[in-house]
Amino acid sequence: CGIVGYVGRQKASPILLEGLKRLEYRGYDSAGVAIQQDGQLELVRRVGRVDNLVKEAAKHRFTGTTGICHTRWATHGGVTEANAHPHISSDGMIALVHNGVIENYSAIKKFLQTKGYTFHSETDTEVLSNLIAYHYAKEPAAPAGESRFLHAVRKTLRHVEGTYGIAVLCKDCTSEIVAARKGSPLILGVGENEYILASDVSALVSRTQNVVYLKDGEVVHVTAKQFSISTLDMEDVSPVVDKVTWAI
Ligand code: GLU
Repeated sequence: CGIVGYVGRQKASPILLEGLKRLEYRGYDSAGVAIQQDGQLELVRRVGRVDNLVKEAAKHRFTGTTGICHTRWATHGGVTEANAHPHISSDGMIALVHNGVIENYSAIKKFLQTKGYTFHSETDTEVLSNLIAYHYAKEPAAPAGESRFLHAVRKTLRHVEGTYGIAVLCKDCTSEIVAARKGSPLILGVGENEYILASDVSALVSRTQNVVYLKDGEVVHVTAKQFSISTLDMEDVSPVVDKVTWAI
């Protein structure tokens, strides 16, 4: 339902949760946040209000400057903590939030189970984190100039049928998010020394008015210093930075 991502110099957690609160009006049944810090992926999820998540997140020592969060509107699987996003791959490498529906998830799940990946939710989403982890593990050498993480996301999305807005973290990758969309909105806010991804512009206008509206079939690779947009077929896309003319 709602996605926020952050890469920058500030602690990610308060910025993510503030953005998530601004998306509450869209409706949701559970919420969660994942932060990449000290070479680990830290995860907190809660059923119910974003405030429940905020309280729980306050107990964790979230110092990382890269993270993703989500409010879920369940389509596949009940309203439980295990089904809330982010989902972490069974090898612990990839954390992912997703809006939309993956139509061919059972075929992908069966394939991944034969490769030893295990599943801990009833969602369609969990195949995405595991398939990215599978490609990441399988192909350490990405094509020249291409990040291995970005390459794994791209490979995964070529096999996916359905709709998605996703934002992805990799345990090994400090200050990096890969995000993509097809049939579900995703916007990149270009701030001062920081980037904020969101499914709705209202989640980011308090930090920047410079935005790039991603198009279907585009993938964005965001690091602390820059971002680049390309298609699933590795064509570079020149970004158009728009200005949001209203503030909240
Ligand atoms: N299909 C996913 C799920 O049920 C994503 C739902 C959403 O868009 O919030 O978990």
